[in-house]
Amino acid sequence: MPAVRGQVVIIGGGISGLSAAYDLANAGVPHTLIEKQPRLGGVIETRQWDDCVMECGPDSFISAKPEAMTLIRELGLAGEVIGSKDEERVTYIQRHGKLVRLPEGTTMFVPTRPSSMLASPLVGWGTKVRMGLELLRGPKTYPDRSVSEFVTDHFGRETLDYLAEPLLSGVYGGDPDQLSAASVLPRFVEMERTKGSLARALMAARRGATRSEPLFRTLKGGLGCLVERLAAKANVTHGAAEAIERQGEGFRVRVNGDWMDTDHLVVACPAWAAGELLCDIDGRLASLLRMIPYTSSAIAQMVFRASEFDGQRAGTGFLVPRAERKRLMACTFVGTKFPHRVPSDKITLRCFFGGAGNDAVLGEPDDALIAIAREELAAILGLTAAPIFTGVYRWPRSMAQYIVGHGARLKEIETHASAVPGLHLAGNAYTGIGIPDCIRMGRQAAAKIITS
Ligand SMILES: Cc1cc2nc3c(=O)[nH]c(=O)nc-3n(C[C@H](O)[C@H](O)[C@H](O)COP(=O)(O)OP(=O)(O)OC[C@H]3O[C@@H](n4cnc5c(N)ncnc54)[C@H](O)[C@@H]3O)c2cc1C
Repeated sequence: MPAVRGQVVIIGGGISGLSAAYDLANAGVPHTLIEKQPRLGGVIETRQWDDCVMECGPDSFISAKPEAMTLIRELGLAGEVIGSKDEERVTYIQRHGKLVRLPEGTTMFVPTRPSSMLASPLVGWGTKVRMGLELLRGPKTYPDRSVSEFVTDHFGRETLDYLAEPLLSGVYGGDPDQLSAASVLPRFVEMERTKGSLARALMAARRGATRSEPLFRTLKGGLGCLVERLAAKANVTHGAAEAIERQGEGFRVRVNGDWMDTDHLVVACPAWAAGELLCDIDGRLASLLRMIPYTSSAIAQMVFRASEFDGQRAGTGFLVPRAERKRLMACTFVGTKFPHRVPSDKITLRCFFGGAGNDAVLGEPDDALIAIAREELAAILGLTAAPIFTGVYRWPRSMAQYIVGHGARLKEIETHASAVPGLHLAGNAYTGIGIPDCIRMGRQAAAKIITS
């Protein structure tokens, strides 16, 4: 591979690296994006089966963060966007083996409609009284503490076990005893600091709000369309980045045994991989990156004929709290969430496995995972019908965990990274795990290079 000076090397062709490449290409900055897999997109992958759109990884993005929509508009894909059907959004949580509807007005684990929480069998009277008393809290600031401590302090242990833990497992696949409240729930921590009661603050915000946009958005044909559009702009080399060395003011990167020279480096692979690559550049930076834990997950997708589906149709899906979990963490009814993706004569279920401490499940063969999913669905939904399609997708070490102390670690990472001219970090390990956050970080890295 010939040495090219004055260009940018991006390591990692997930949404973070692709977003950086897109802006560099538009600005006319020569770049090479290095991706070790034969496919681009990282954990974003869409497949089609028959007339069903199958998301193998993420299926949507949150509307409240504008970066994904901004990029989608720039790419000319705005006409493809569909929103979640929030008025039909019903989520269930397993309690004593039965599915209980998430009380209306619950924002994450915070009750904002007292009447629906009071009527719900999801939590007992002790917890309901505790929720009422939370309204009386005054503002207070705490040092970074775990999500478990934060939630228990506000609403008690049962709220942690039957609301916060299952809801956060769905987003982070994480352990609330480890996750940092400040990094994972920054908006709630800010409410605690300024208002005291989360329920009171959210009820006040709700009264003043006029909701016009859906909670989640996605692309009709799947998020893979976003990857395809971005990939069309990127100059890609498939191969694994194996080592990085400082060379004068720039760097050299070994890819498949050959060295490439570059002035700027955007490291957009997972932090554990970045840590391995950057050990010769800054040992402390490398070890800080390796300290960010990751969890793994697997999705078992199944399509059924609607006419044969004999199980309970559980709204947009259900969550299984750790306290009741065997292997299955959650299950989504894809067609209820995004009807454009499943024709009316079919029902598609996405079953989630893995999360903190459950990496072993990824080692199960496909057939075994499908068998586990069917067994648990039979117990929970009473479903005995056989699927007409199955697919299993594994995402090892893909979800960064913002554990207690993440904010302080991040500051140290930023100090070390900014002391290496030309080095830029992007990806889900830093200031946000969702797709809009990753797009923001990728584009910020590109902007720094373009303006430098
Ligand atoms: C199952 C699942 C469901 C999710 N659901 C949602 C959702 O619905 N909505 C949402 O907003 N977010 C969701 N997320 C989170 C979000 O999708 C990810 O955080 C985000 O896509 C990560 O993008 P990334 O580019 O930072 O990393 P990745 O997608 O992990 O990409 C990193 C890339 O780096 C490559 N790489 C690694 N090492 C090297 C190397 N040495 N050389 C070259 N290449 C290398 C990898 O092959 C990979 O392609 C989900 C995540 C998972 C795993």
